[in-house]
Amino acid sequence: MKNEKKFNKELFIVEAVIGIAASIMFIVVVGLAALIAEKEPAVAGLIIGVSFLSFFVVCLGLTKMEQIVGYYQCIKCRHKHVPTYNEVLWSMHLGRTRRMPCPKCHKKTWQRKVLS
Ligand SMILES: [Zn+2]
Repeated sequence: MKNEKKFNKELFIVEAVIGIAASIMFIVVVGLAALIAEKEPAVAGLIIGVSFLSFFVVCLGLTKMEQIVGYYQCIKCRHKHVPTYNEVLWSMHLGRTRRMPCPKCHKKTWQRKVLS
């Protein structure tokens, strides 16, 4: 259990680093593409499109990590569970806390991310 918590904490750090790095790269590449947009609009559009698609794919991967690392705990009944990818993808969230259906009490509740 202690190892699981440590492992999940390390994966959260990896997730955060990948997310921050991808965001910075996306902003920088789009900013550089904007500089050449007047002279080469087609090239700039292609660069921005590819950057957006790459960033989107990274975000989907990070959402998968968010789903499988640790558990979500219902604030009503304290039940811990691993939600489906779609539940995580389409739920409202504030940071790592998400509003999803609880499989035990069957209520749509805010659920905190817990490491173990
Ligand atoms: Zn519940």
